[in-house]
Amino acid sequence: MGRKFFVGGNWKCNGTTEQVKKIVGTLNEAKVPGEDIVEVVVSPPFVFLSFVKALLRSDFHVAAQNCWVHKGGAYTGEVSAEMLVNLDIPWVILGHSERRALLKESSEFVADKVAYALSQNLKVIACIGETLEQREAGTTLAVVSEQTKAIAAKISNWDNVVLAYEPVWAIGTGKVATPAQAQEVHADLRKWIHDNVSAEVASTVRIIYGGSVNGANSKELAGQADVDGFLVGGASLKPEFIDIINAAT
Ligand code: PGA
Repeated sequence: MGRKFFVGGNWKCNGTTEQVKKIVGTLNEAKVPGEDIVEVVVSPPFVFLSFVKALLRSDFHVAAQNCWVHKGGAYTGEVSAEMLVNLDIPWVILGHSERRALLKESSEFVADKVAYALSQNLKVIACIGETLEQREAGTTLAVVSEQTKAIAAKISNWDNVVLAYEPVWAIGTGKVATPAQAQEVHADLRKWIHDNVSAEVASTVRIIYGGSVNGANSKELAGQADVDGFLVGGASLKPEFIDIINAAT
């Protein structure tokens, strides 16, 4: 069976109640392919999750942008996987490069989060990607495979995982990876998964691309054999997110 196209909108730390209403209004009116063709997930900040879930059309789903690494308890400021489950939030983004860089989340810590979230039946968008220095040093595959290996060491079932390849140099910079650059890393990563996890996981796991995706560049990127969708930041706050969803067909 083919891999269903996946488009995630990562709103990051943006939005007011009014802006959120407006974005959801645009999404709700949009004409897009059915759920059998493309899976659409939007990720507002924690405080807007329930609000968005209540307003959003039922064929689109919501994701949290993070969650705590283990069961909840005395962890001031954190939100647990159990709470997301309790609120009926099906997805969580983990290991975003902004958290890896700014909050010093290690590959090990991210992998623990992925394993715990999956154990609570959340579906996970796990982010990986190299910095510009690492790319220029020729270590892109080494970096993304190390990040993936940390996860692979802690999970055995990949059914509820989407891997988001997001080169750090492309995030929020307007400097999108070329379709060939994205395809190369996605194919290398799929081969790494084939050789180190299993042929079955390699053929079924969705590897989506993130980093300056917009309405204009999404179509060509979507045409690459190993690009199974997108994780979109800036453009997910704008009406052009609809064009990106429509790049699925
Ligand atoms: P961007 O962000 O689309 O604004 O580059 C992507 C992401 O961080 O997920």
